[in-house]
Amino acid sequence: MSLAEVLSHIKVANPDDAGEIERIVTYFYESSPAKKGFAYQLFESLVVENRDLTFSRGAGGKMESTVHGYEITEYSKSFMENKVKISSNGVISEYTFAQALMHEIIHAVTGANDDGTPGADGIGNGGDYGMPANLTTPKYNYVGLTVALEQQIFAEAGIPNARASYHSTPYLNELENQLGVHMGESLTAGKEVGLVLLDDIAPLDTK
Ligand SMILES: [Zn+2]
Repeated sequence: MSLAEVLSHIKVANPDDAGEIERIVTYFYESSPAKKGFAYQLFESLVVENRDLTFSRGAGGKMESTVHGYEITEYSKSFMENKVKISSNGVISEYTFAQALMHEIIHAVTGANDDGTPGADGIGNGGDYGMPANLTTPKYNYVGLTVALEQQIFAEAGIPNARASYHSTPYLNELENQLGVHMGESLTAGKEVGLVLLDDIAPLDTK
Protein backbone atom coordinates (compact mmCIF):
# COMPACT_ATOMS: atom_id res chain seq x y z
CA MET A 1 0.00 0.00 0.00
CA SER A 2 1.01 3.59 -0.43
CA LEU A 3 0.32 7.09 0.70
CA ALA A 4 -1.46 7.74 -2.61
CA GLU A 5 -3.88 4.89 -1.89
CA VAL A 6 -4.55 6.26 1.59
CA LEU A 7 -5.18 9.75 0.22
CA SER A 8 -7.63 8.34 -2.34
CA HIS A 9 -9.85 7.50 0.65
CA ILE A 10 -9.67 11.02 2.12
CA LYS A 11 -12.69 13.04 0.98
CA VAL A 12 -12.90 16.73 1.87
CA ALA A 13 -16.22 18.42 1.21
CA ASN A 14 -14.81 21.95 1.06
CA PRO A 15 -12.17 22.10 -1.70
CA ASP A 16 -10.45 25.05 0.00
CA ASP A 17 -9.49 22.75 2.87
CA ALA A 18 -8.45 19.69 0.88
CA GLY A 19 -4.77 20.57 0.59
CA GLU A 20 -4.28 21.24 4.27
CA ILE A 21 -6.18 18.16 5.43
CA GLU A 22 -4.23 15.97 3.01
CA ARG A 23 -0.99 17.46 4.36
CA ILE A 24 -2.08 16.66 7.91
CA VAL A 25 -2.94 13.06 7.00
CA THR A 26 0.35 12.76 5.13
CA TYR A 27 2.30 14.08 8.10
CA PHE A 28 0.83 11.59 10.58
CA TYR A 29 1.06 8.70 8.11
CA GLU A 30 4.69 9.38 7.24
CA SER A 31 5.81 10.15 10.78
CA SER A 32 4.45 6.82 11.99
CA PRO A 33 6.77 3.79 11.78
CA ALA A 34 5.90 1.83 8.64
CA LYS A 35 3.76 -1.24 9.18
CA LYS A 36 3.83 -1.22 12.99
CA GLY A 37 3.07 2.41 13.80
CA PHE A 38 -0.41 3.08 15.08
CA ALA A 39 -1.22 6.02 12.77
CA TYR A 40 0.21 4.06 9.84
CA GLN A 41 -2.09 1.13 10.59
CA LEU A 42 -5.05 3.43 11.16
CA PHE A 43 -4.72 5.06 7.74
CA GLU A 44 -3.89 1.78 5.98
CA SER A 45 -7.11 0.34 7.37
CA LEU A 46 -9.02 2.76 5.12
CA VAL A 47 -7.47 1.00 2.13
CA VAL A 48 -7.84 -2.50 3.56
CA GLU A 49 -11.49 -1.98 4.45
CA ASN A 50 -12.18 0.22 1.43
CA ARG A 51 -13.68 2.99 3.58
CA ASP A 52 -13.60 6.69 2.83
CA LEU A 53 -12.83 9.13 5.64
CA THR A 54 -14.87 12.28 5.05
CA PHE A 55 -14.31 15.81 6.33
CA SER A 56 -17.03 18.45 6.46
CA ARG A 57 -16.73 21.89 8.01
CA GLY A 58 -20.25 21.59 9.37
CA ALA A 59 -21.26 24.52 11.53
CA GLY A 60 -17.55 24.95 12.17
CA GLY A 61 -17.76 26.05 15.78
CA LYS A 62 -15.81 23.15 17.23
CA MET A 63 -14.12 19.84 16.47
CA GLU A 64 -16.46 16.87 16.19
CA SER A 65 -16.64 13.46 14.57
CA THR A 66 -18.67 10.30 14.49
CA VAL A 67 -17.35 7.39 16.53
CA HIS A 68 -16.51 4.67 14.02
CA GLY A 69 -18.61 6.47 11.41
CA TYR A 70 -15.62 7.62 9.34
CA GLU A 71 -16.84 11.21 9.35
CA ILE A 72 -15.33 14.40 10.71
CA THR A 73 -18.59 16.31 10.93
CA GLU A 74 -17.29 19.64 12.14
CA TYR A 75 -13.94 21.38 12.28
CA SER A 76 -12.75 24.90 12.95
CA LYS A 77 -9.31 26.42 12.83
CA SER A 78 -10.46 29.45 14.80
CA PHE A 79 -11.73 27.18 17.59
CA MET A 80 -8.20 25.82 17.94
CA GLU A 81 -6.47 29.22 18.01
CA ASN A 82 -4.69 29.65 21.35
CA LYS A 83 -5.65 26.13 22.48
CA VAL A 84 -2.85 24.57 24.47
CA LYS A 85 -2.17 21.19 25.97
CA ILE A 86 -0.61 20.40 29.32
CA SER A 87 1.81 17.49 29.55
CA SER A 88 2.45 15.23 32.52
CA ASN A 89 5.40 17.43 33.47
CA GLY A 90 3.20 20.50 33.38
CA VAL A 91 4.56 21.99 30.17
CA ILE A 92 2.23 24.26 28.21
CA SER A 93 2.48 23.78 24.46
CA GLU A 94 0.34 24.57 21.46
CA TYR A 95 -2.49 22.14 20.73
CA THR A 96 -2.62 22.60 17.02
CA PHE A 97 -5.45 22.20 14.54
CA ALA A 98 -3.55 19.27 13.03
CA GLN A 99 -3.25 17.56 16.41
CA ALA A 100 -6.92 18.09 17.21
CA LEU A 101 -7.90 16.79 13.78
CA MET A 102 -5.88 13.63 14.45
CA HIS A 103 -7.86 13.20 17.68
CA GLU A 104 -11.10 13.31 15.69
CA ILE A 105 -9.73 10.90 13.09
CA ILE A 106 -9.03 8.39 15.88
CA HIS A 107 -12.68 8.58 16.93
CA ALA A 108 -13.96 8.27 13.38
CA VAL A 109 -11.78 5.34 12.29
CA THR A 110 -11.08 3.25 15.38
CA GLY A 111 -14.39 3.62 17.20
CA ALA A 112 -12.68 4.73 20.40
CA ASN A 113 -14.70 7.21 22.42
CA ASP A 114 -13.43 9.73 24.95
CA ASP A 115 -14.21 7.51 27.90
CA GLY A 116 -12.03 5.13 29.77
CA THR A 117 -12.89 1.53 30.38
CA PRO A 118 -14.65 1.36 33.74
CA GLY A 119 -13.19 -0.99 36.29
CA ALA A 120 -15.21 -3.61 38.13
CA ASP A 121 -16.42 -0.89 40.48
CA GLY A 122 -17.77 1.09 37.54
CA ILE A 123 -15.31 3.88 38.20
CA GLY A 124 -12.98 5.09 35.56
CA ASN A 125 -13.65 7.56 32.89
CA GLY A 126 -11.58 10.18 31.19
CA GLY A 127 -14.06 11.91 29.04
CA ASP A 128 -17.68 12.83 29.07
CA TYR A 129 -18.41 11.46 32.49
CA GLY A 130 -16.46 14.38 33.90
CA MET A 131 -14.41 14.24 37.02
CA PRO A 132 -14.87 12.16 40.16
CA ALA A 133 -16.22 13.90 43.23
CA ASN A 134 -12.97 13.17 45.01
CA LEU A 135 -9.64 13.63 43.23
CA THR A 136 -8.15 10.84 45.30
CA THR A 137 -10.63 8.31 43.88
CA PRO A 138 -8.43 5.29 43.15
CA LYS A 139 -7.99 3.94 39.62
CA TYR A 140 -9.97 6.74 38.05
CA ASN A 141 -9.10 6.99 34.37
CA TYR A 142 -8.47 10.64 33.55
CA VAL A 143 -7.18 9.88 30.07
CA GLY A 144 -9.80 7.85 28.24
CA LEU A 145 -9.45 5.65 25.18
CA THR A 146 -8.93 8.25 22.47
CA VAL A 147 -6.43 10.44 24.30
CA ALA A 148 -4.40 7.30 25.11
CA LEU A 149 -4.20 6.53 21.38
CA GLU A 150 -3.44 10.20 20.67
CA GLN A 151 -0.52 10.02 23.15
CA GLN A 152 0.77 6.92 21.34
CA ILE A 153 0.56 8.56 17.91
CA PHE A 154 2.29 11.73 19.12
CA ALA A 155 5.06 9.64 20.71
CA GLU A 156 5.60 7.76 17.44
CA ALA A 157 5.68 11.07 15.53
CA GLY A 158 8.16 12.59 17.98
CA ILE A 159 5.71 15.27 19.11
CA PRO A 160 6.74 16.21 22.66
CA ASN A 161 4.52 17.14 25.58
CA ALA A 162 1.37 15.20 24.68
CA ARG A 163 -1.58 16.17 26.84
CA ALA A 164 -1.59 14.40 30.17
CA SER A 165 -5.31 13.72 30.28
CA TYR A 166 -8.56 14.35 28.50
CA HIS A 167 -9.06 17.40 30.70
CA SER A 168 -5.88 19.28 29.86
CA THR A 169 -6.57 21.44 26.83
CA PRO A 170 -7.42 24.93 28.08
CA TYR A 171 -6.97 28.18 26.17
CA LEU A 172 -3.70 29.99 26.70
CA ASN A 173 -5.30 33.27 27.74
CA GLU A 174 -7.10 31.49 30.58
CA LEU A 175 -3.80 30.18 31.92
CA GLU A 176 -2.19 33.59 31.52
CA ASN A 177 -5.05 35.54 33.07
CA GLN A 178 -5.93 33.15 35.87
CA LEU A 179 -2.63 31.46 36.68
CA GLY A 180 -0.04 33.88 35.27
CA VAL A 181 1.79 31.21 33.28
CA HIS A 182 2.79 31.33 29.64
CA MET A 183 3.48 29.19 26.57
CA GLY A 184 6.47 26.90 27.09
CA GLU A 185 6.45 27.26 30.86
CA SER A 186 5.62 24.43 33.24
CA LEU A 187 2.88 24.48 35.83
CA THR A 188 4.94 22.13 37.97
CA ALA A 189 8.48 23.44 37.55
CA GLY A 190 9.01 20.57 35.13
CA LYS A 191 8.24 17.90 37.70
CA GLU A 192 6.36 14.80 36.57
CA VAL A 193 3.00 14.74 38.29
CA GLY A 194 0.15 12.31 38.64
CA LEU A 195 -2.47 14.97 39.27
CA VAL A 196 -4.35 16.32 36.29
CA LEU A 197 -5.07 19.88 35.24
CA LEU A 198 -8.75 20.40 34.59
CA ASP A 199 -9.98 22.46 31.70
CA ASP A 200 -13.12 23.40 33.55
CA ILE A 201 -11.90 26.97 33.28
CA ALA A 202 -12.62 26.68 29.56
CA PRO A 203 -16.19 27.17 28.39
CA LEU A 204 -15.75 24.79 25.46
CA ASP A 205 -13.81 21.65 24.86
CA THR A 206 -12.94 19.48 21.91
CA LYS A 207 -14.76 16.17 21.97
ZN1 LIG B 1 -12.61 13.22 21.69
